[in-house]
Amino acid sequence: MTASKTPFNKPSMVGKEVAYLQEAIDRGQLSGDGHFTRLSNARIAEMTGARCALLTHSCTAALEMAAILCDLEPGDEVIMPSFTFVSTANAVALRGAAPVFVDIDAQTLNMDPEKTAAAVTDRTKAIFAVHYAGFPADMDALAVIARDHDLLLVEDAAQALGSTYKGRPAGSLGDMAAFSFHETKNIISGEGGALTLMRPDLVERAEIIREKGTNRSRFLRGQVDKYTWVDIGSSFLPGELVAAFLYGQLEQAEAIKLRRLALFDRYAEAFADLAGAGRVRLPVAPPDTTGNGHMFYLLLRDIEDRDAFIAHMRAAGIITPFHYVPLHSAPAGRKHARFIGNGLPVTDDISARLVRLPLFYGLEDGIEGVIEVAQRYFEQEV
Ligand SMILES: *Cc1c(COP(=O)(O)O)cnc(C)c1O
Repeated sequence: MTASKTPFNKPSMVGKEVAYLQEAIDRGQLSGDGHFTRLSNARIAEMTGARCALLTHSCTAALEMAAILCDLEPGDEVIMPSFTFVSTANAVALRGAAPVFVDIDAQTLNMDPEKTAAAVTDRTKAIFAVHYAGFPADMDALAVIARDHDLLLVEDAAQALGSTYKGRPAGSLGDMAAFSFHETKNIISGEGGALTLMRPDLVERAEIIREKGTNRSRFLRGQVDKYTWVDIGSSFLPGELVAAFLYGQLEQAEAIKLRRLALFDRYAEAFADLAGAGRVRLPVAPPDTTGNGHMFYLLLRDIEDRDAFIAHMRAAGIITPFHYVPLHSAPAGRKHARFIGNGLPVTDDISARLVRLPLFYGLEDGIEGVIEVAQRYFEQEV
């Protein structure tokens, strides 16, 4: 292994990003909802099979829009995993509503539908399902719960662009979905995101919320003759430079996915023997899903094993971070979320044992070195 560092993630240019930035400047509109925003919205709607896609400046922003569209009020509850990024819970807490954390399934690391059903109360308004590592949650089971209790079903699909569940793409599996184009995700624009909608009746309100609570979108389409303040909202839309960069990436989405999946498969092959021997556990695709190569993780024996692995890799200049600190144990989680009596044992266990390996477009040159160093960690103990 060379002395040079292998980062966990490295953003890459993959297509016409720079040419499109120049084109956006030449077109003379740098604010949002111009040429490249329209192209990106259409492309994301096509990729996800959603009725409508709206670029936002982050997945966090898309989740905040979703929370407004759910009409959350103080006292309302939203069921979600604790094993997720803070934005899933923040969006709910910002409305004065309470995140209610449920445990994950030990195999899929996605929220457990049985625990979800058990967490429903008469204050429950929505389920926010996270597709961890890009593998979709069990959306049919969650949809049944949502239908039975008249709840909205929101996908936190931040990691899941290009993944499928029973042949249907992430982004078309609930009432709405939030995507991220943060530079650590598969398709990037630095910061960026999108909200996709499956329900036509939510589209017009989503446009209004995204445009500071005004009906500017209808005005631009000539449907009203002046625009005005009609609802609550904020500035959730990115400028055209972000959209232009993003569109360069979206055009290459399939190629990016295939390259990431090849890296994922190479890791899976390299650690198959260790997994077979029960030394590590590898990601498993939940039934009827396909992933998008977003993340490859190993589950080690316990936190000591995991931390020793991270230190071993770091000594060779390879960055292998752990992931979420469970939100139910975080200070803001304790303050804003509803408490669960018996804790979340699977979440606590998995979060202590999980480590993520470098996986990014262009890692082809470095992946064998990562594997070699990692395998040395396991060899040293026998
Ligand atoms: C990355 C991520 C987010 C936040 O995305 P941003 O675009 O950075 O706001 C939210 N939820 C999950 C599950 C994520 O992985």
